[in-house]
Amino acid sequence: MNSATFHPSPNCDARPEGADVALVVIHAISLPPERFGGAGVEQLFTNRLDPLEHPYYADIHHLRVSAHYFIRRTGELICFVAPSNRAWHAGVSAWRGRERCNDFSVGIELEGCDSLPFEPAQYEVLADLLDELCERFPVQGITGHSDIAPGRKTDPGPYFSWGRLRRLLAENGRADVLARIEPEGAPNADDGALMRWPFPLAVRPG
Ligand SMILES: [Zn+2]
Repeated sequence: MNSATFHPSPNCDARPEGADVALVVIHAISLPPERFGGAGVEQLFTNRLDPLEHPYYADIHHLRVSAHYFIRRTGELICFVAPSNRAWHAGVSAWRGRERCNDFSVGIELEGCDSLPFEPAQYEVLADLLDELCERFPVQGITGHSDIAPGRKTDPGPYFSWGRLRRLLAENGRADVLARIEPEGAPNADDGALMRWPFPLAVRPG
């Protein structure tokens, strides 16, 4: 069982009547971009981001967004919205022809970016969390934000190794969870070996 710290976000509401949790969406975020370990993500998801602290924050501080979970580089797990409620993570999106993925999905943010590998501890915590969510909800699919909002979102990005996640789930004896993962990925892939997205990596200032 994962022990998550709960930092309640006001950016959530009830799921529509009859909406099951059918989908888990994997994201990546870092604030400021490509900086790890700070308080920016918690501040964004609780509407406390200071627009004066970083130029990027001035552009996004007004957003009202959240995710259910955030997994830090250390493997620390933070819960912002109970998975039974609707968090605001997916935006304009569609999965298997169903729009508004927030209605029927759980969103998990990994602390990361499009240009660096993720940490082994993050995969471990993610695999355990997926296991729990699949026990608790009728999850049918596990996919990336870029897969439900193509052309608009790139996360979790080319350095997220679906193969590594698949291998962990297989090692943990969770073939049932593994079967719900939709993106391709070789089971023996190392971090960074997978470049599912052929887009050029943007070099961001700061
Ligand atoms: Zn995302």
